[in-house]
Amino acid sequence: KYSMLEVDRKDTKELQELSAAFNNMMEELKIHDENQQAFIMNASHELKTPITVISSYSEMLKRFGKTREDVLDESIHAISDEARRMKYLTEQLLSFAKVNTGREEISRQPTRIVKLIRDIAARLETVYQREIDVRTDNEEVLAHVDVNTFDQLMKIFMDNAYKYSSDAIAVEVQDHGQSVEVTIKDRGIGIPEEDIDHIFTRFYRVDKARARKTGGSGLGLSIARELAKLNGIDISVDSQVDVGTTFRLTMESGGNDEEEN
Ligand code: ADP
Repeated sequence: KYSMLEVDRKDTKELQELSAAFNNMMEELKIHDENQQAFIMNASHELKTPITVISSYSEMLKRFGKTREDVLDESIHAISDEARRMKYLTEQLLSFAKVNTGREEISRQPTRIVKLIRDIAARLETVYQREIDVRTDNEEVLAHVDVNTFDQLMKIFMDNAYKYSSDAIAVEVQDHGQSVEVTIKDRGIGIPEEDIDHIFTRFYRVDKARARKTGGSGLGLSIARELAKLNGIDISVDSQVDVGTTFRLTMESGGNDEEEN
């Protein structure tokens, strides 16, 4: 019981720290065009929903929490879900602000990309409780990327493959000599053709109602696009409704081992 309380406190503190950091950054961003105005409107709107839910459930708890176990149960679950959602949104906003204000520090180096991807996949398999199949034609291939931002980037595509499908996720790394290609493939709901051009736009979601259930923010791919830019990675997407989606990342090769040593 006490440890749960500790976890809650830690979460709350983390949330407070995140939102403080976010506030600072937003203050520094000069609001000088409509785009940024729209961004702030969108961000506030996204955060407002969970806050509204949390505060109405808190009110319910205050009034009925001591006498009605069903209300207690429902409220606690709703509050913790929405708090988690807010935490996710704040993290997304923070990383969006970071990457768009040039604060993301990167150092691109020849990187053993397959090993890096296997590590990321292993980590996410535990979280998702789902298989992530990583294949390659060259286990040792080097790509010229920054490890930290590449990690963030992969996670965004994997999270999406996880959210919008219910099958195993397939990742493939291909050595093309001068370039390296990484594909993330799911057999999920797919993206309608008319939406494909918009999915990298901030806050854009194909299905708002569903996105809320899956916990999306509509920021993931816009962050991914910026992270990709920093790494000189080209992104393309191929998708078919009810069949699945493949994101293809093409990056510069990191040379080969002989050149390195
Ligand atoms: P979100 O947080 O909503 O997932 P993203 O910016 O990551 O936001 O993605 C934007 C939208 O693109 C999603 O809301 C979803 O509609 C669509 N999308 C992204 N990846 C996939 C995928 N693998 N399968 C189907 N739809 C996807």
